[in-house]
Amino acid sequence: MKYPYKTREGGATVTVFVPYDCGNRCPFCINKEEYACLDGFSAEKIMESIRRLDAITPYCDFVFTGGEPFANLPVFQQMLDCVPKTHKVYINTTLPVSKITSEDDIVEFTRRNRDKITCINVSRHMQHYVVESNDGLLSRLAVPFRINCVLYKDYPAEQLVPYLERFYKVPGASIQFRFDYTATTPENLYDREHDKILADLKKISRYTGLDGCRMRCGFHFDYKGMELTYHKTLPYSTIIEKDPADGVTYAILYDVLIKQTGEIHSDWDGTVMDVPAYEKVVFEPYDLAVLERVEKVG
Ligand code: SF4
Repeated sequence: MKYPYKTREGGATVTVFVPYDCGNRCPFCINKEEYACLDGFSAEKIMESIRRLDAITPYCDFVFTGGEPFANLPVFQQMLDCVPKTHKVYINTTLPVSKITSEDDIVEFTRRNRDKITCINVSRHMQHYVVESNDGLLSRLAVPFRINCVLYKDYPAEQLVPYLERFYKVPGASIQFRFDYTATTPENLYDREHDKILADLKKISRYTGLDGCRMRCGFHFDYKGMELTYHKTLPYSTIIEKDPADGVTYAILYDVLIKQTGEIHSDWDGTVMDVPAYEKVVFEPYDLAVLERVEKVG
């Protein structure tokens, strides 16, 4: 069944899968298999699709992910050059350094693109799933950064405080803890009673509030002045809903994807987007809202 598209004002977030892999094997990664065979991967086609979606929603957010965006800086630069400055740009990375890409190269890249990159999200997990560069590189970046940490299955809760202390020392750091989104359901998205991560974070930091929407939520905390978020999101990006105002059932899109081949998808499960239909997308106000705010006592 096909429904007309609806999305939030500004447009659905565009997640771009770069056409080259990372060197890691995180157990929760659902993208790894896609990089097993690089046939059909095309930076040119990805750039065509970036331009196409920019023309439809010139103020949406872009997220570059992979794979590893920083694995090939010249190609990554070409892709960024296709994104006009009307967009916010986020980069998911492990910040890898190698024989080809040095720390200085990465720092220079962030300097060159400082007016374009909104935030770099750096994966640093408590269990060492990824090859890590030096923490000193983080404070050298010329753009804001955030640490992303997936708390996967039986994560070592006793390591939370040492982990926080590690980044507390890094100027400019904030941390986003993430629930394994393949395990998120509409029933447990806002569930507080059975949420072990929420309980563990409340023991070691000050809870400051909650924001969220139909698709995702964020519990906020303060650890000695460092901002922490606990983020949960559903494992799909389309919600089918009837609008009581006009009686029409819409496919409401939160994320659209540009795959490694340049193909545009409307969900994470391989659904190819009807791009001409998206050119006629209906907009609604973004439903992300502050749901609770806890004032500091004393
Ligand atoms: S670093 Fe990212 S892309 Fe690479 S295996 Fe881990 S989650 Fe997957």
